[in-house]
Amino acid sequence: MKKHNFSAGPCILPQEVLLKASEAVVDFDNSGLSLIEISHRSKAFVDVMEKARALALELLGLEGKGYKALFLQGGASTQFLMTALNLLEKRAGYLNSGTWSDKAIKEAKIYDDIYEVASSKNANFNYIPKGYDIPSDYDYFHCTSNNTIFGTQMKSFPKCDIPMVCDMSSDIFSRTLDFTQFDLIYAGAQKNMGPAGTTLVVIKEDILGKVSRKIPSMMDYKTHISKGSMFNTPPVFAVYTSMLTLEWLKNLGGIAAIEEENEKKARLMYSEIDLNPLFKGYATKEDRSNMNATFTLENENLKETFETMLKEGGINGLNGHRSVGGYRASMYNALPLDSVKALVEIMSELESKA
Ligand code: PMP
Repeated sequence: MKKHNFSAGPCILPQEVLLKASEAVVDFDNSGLSLIEISHRSKAFVDVMEKARALALELLGLEGKGYKALFLQGGASTQFLMTALNLLEKRAGYLNSGTWSDKAIKEAKIYDDIYEVASSKNANFNYIPKGYDIPSDYDYFHCTSNNTIFGTQMKSFPKCDIPMVCDMSSDIFSRTLDFTQFDLIYAGAQKNMGPAGTTLVVIKEDILGKVSRKIPSMMDYKTHISKGSMFNTPPVFAVYTSMLTLEWLKNLGGIAAIEEENEKKARLMYSEIDLNPLFKGYATKEDRSNMNATFTLENENLKETFETMLKEGGINGLNGHRSVGGYRASMYNALPLDSVKALVEIMSELESKA
């Protein structure tokens, strides 16, 4: 029986995507060959890469607007470094809203002193800082749209006169935004897109070529743009599976359609957290993430009972990150509303037992 998968990432993917991807591993499009045993230079795979790149831009509403989509390797963590390497000449401003922002800052500091425009570190990142200034003579501003570990999400983005770089690893394709306000978006595939192994980078080409340093070929966005994201052997399975997920999302009605579902799931989850006296939400209400709901069980004596009930109910991946503790319900695009209903039922049953 399929479990209710609340894992934070890698995480649930649409069942039909898993089926199609597994078929392609055995026999890709009735070719008599596996997807993972054909040349990445074959027309069949080049078509997959082109389709994945085009679908990413189409779903984000960025087609024909000067953006390029790339499927790179090295995870979002490599983008912490690569964005700085390609864009940082004198000084950049970073919003420190969680562990991943903190790591991005650490990498960028290899190249220069980074200015933290604001930070919520003192409150163990339970809110999104607001009301800060972004100096207009900086090279770029970097932020994290959704803080996977703490369960906070930026509901709006600052007006920015300089290029805005955003780590959208854990909420890309989950909500409608004006994506033209960003100049570079990156996201590891393993939440809303596909298996681990590839990272989507969407970049406005005209922000490149402004730093004086030499950039190693593999680290240079221009290399990958000029080679159509095929400079070296791409992670073919991860790209193909991402393409299938993007197709699935397009057929559902795109980001606007999934956003409605995501809002229903989040509303249900947070109303249980707020109404059930046994639980307490971690993040400040106005900054709560629609992707990752973080909460604690107030009565430690009920922990064992609750966890047994979760296990019996087929709930997977609910443990919070070690830096927050408690629980984290990750409700990515592919998680059905019924899974949230199943979890909420267990939470209210616990209340009746207490
Ligand atoms: N940024 C965010 C917001 C994340 O959630 C993660 C991983 N969970 C990362 C960056 C790091 O991604 P990767 O493991 O692909 O390097």
